[in-house]
Amino acid sequence: MTAPVQPGLSASSGGPVPSSRRGPSRRPLSPHQLDALRLASLGKTHTEIGRQLLIEPTSVGKLFTEVFRKLGAVNMPNAVLLAARAGLLDGKPQRHGDHAGFAAHRYRKEEPCDACWEGERAYRADRRAVRKAARQHAA
Ligand SMILES: [Zn+2]
Repeated sequence: MTAPVQPGLSASSGGPVPSSRRGPSRRPLSPHQLDALRLASLGKTHTEIGRQLLIEPTSVGKLFTEVFRKLGAVNMPNAVLLAARAGLLDGKPQRHGDHAGFAAHRYRKEEPCDACWEGERAYRADRRAVRKAARQHAA
């Protein structure tokens, strides 16, 4: 038998040439990163994007730094172009941070983002409180 394949070394089977060190990373964009980029492609400012995704405008900047790194982009127009070519901008931006956002993640078979988990927990606590109050009222 042959030696086990070592991680990081690709078998020379005539496949695509590995991307350069400065090329795009293979890690996919997170749901939040995709949504931020979709909003940016619609001309939204960092403030508007932060408001929609329920994160601070300063966090939006950090989020885009990570997006550029993953895409191998040098700036926003470049990132939007690369993402559009890859078909990443087709979906509609989602609203995050509440039960609907949580349900939408689940529907898309994604792990819900932190903001949506937080919103979902608040939603469940709310429902429990409502049920409890209803029981007490009926008693
Ligand atoms: Zn979310």
